[in-house]
Amino acid sequence: MRLFNSDYYANMGLADIRDKVEVGERLSFEDGIKLFECPEPLAVGALAHMVRTRLHGDKAFYVVNQHVNYTNVCVNGCVFCAYQREEGQEGGFVLSKEDVIAKIDSAALTPREIHIVGGCHPKLKLDYFEDILNAIKERLPEVVLKCFTAVEIAHFAQLENISTHEVLTRLKTAGLDMLPGGGAEIFAPETREQICPRKSTAKEWLAVHEEAHALGLKTNCTMLFGHIESIEDRIDHLIQLRESQDRGGGYTCFIPLPFLTENSQLTIENPLTGLDELRAIAISRLMLDNIPHIKAYWVMLGVKQAQAALKFGADDFDGTVVEEKIGHEAGATSEQGMTRSELTEMIKGCGCTPVERDGFFNEI
Ligand code: SF4
Repeated sequence: MRLFNSDYYANMGLADIRDKVEVGERLSFEDGIKLFECPEPLAVGALAHMVRTRLHGDKAFYVVNQHVNYTNVCVNGCVFCAYQREEGQEGGFVLSKEDVIAKIDSAALTPREIHIVGGCHPKLKLDYFEDILNAIKERLPEVVLKCFTAVEIAHFAQLENISTHEVLTRLKTAGLDMLPGGGAEIFAPETREQICPRKSTAKEWLAVHEEAHALGLKTNCTMLFGHIESIEDRIDHLIQLRESQDRGGGYTCFIPLPFLTENSQLTIENPLTGLDELRAIAISRLMLDNIPHIKAYWVMLGVKQAQAALKFGADDFDGTVVEEKIGHEAGATSEQGMTRSELTEMIKGCGCTPVERDGFFNEI
């Protein structure tokens, strides 16, 4: 498929990148920088759409899923975070195991995937999480449990004074199937130090994911962009994920997360435009040649921008969600959840074919 001819790309100095993309050759760090510097976002989007179409045709995936956030109390205090509260601070909450189960029981759907994440609480011990996973799997033995970021896993290990490998092994025994991709933020050490100095380092984040892959667990991965990071930081981040995937192969989906500015301590001089978001999604598709899926996470992007992203390299629309707290604390204006028919209509509305999937991206 050729949306633009070779002269068009040659005029922008992207002829070599276009040729590489056409034959499926890996892009370099310098290529990634050039794509961010290209004056024409549609040219970048067309290349990403070519790759997305080669991989998935016109399919756009969605999942009947439910998010549960068990606490917003967190010891890390990341500068960008609008969600976190200190222990005892007004607005802080912790769900009991019974609260979590009640949320799942009361949802008007049978989820294929349950996504559970929360803050790094100073007192919640590993048996609390094991109990929750066991109780959910008793009720919903087929559900894919995608729970706890690598940052939470490292925090549990520290609280219990055991290794992250042991934490993952115990949680897997309790029913854990996947890790979500959160906590990656941006890997570049100087930038990471400024926005989340107490959080696991990039090396630690990657090590937990690679341990999970070695245990047979699938994982997702993310990048938080549009704060104080440079273009070089973004490309470095994508290449580190790509190299990690080369080592283990367990990443299923990459989720590019635009930074939402509301209720954050970070002041941003030039907030992202819609085209900035689409360009970053497209470049993610082009750089991550070994990660099968790119998510247009409608909660953070907004539904209309997520629809546009399906034409800029993304192939997954995420899911029904039911209730979401983290993005909404940061100013997300999307609904809390969507029905299956709303999701399929949104996908059809931008000319794609909706395909229901489970948490592992198996088509249903
Ligand atoms: S981003 Fe996560 S780890 Fe950082 S303060 Fe917020 S909840 Fe805690």
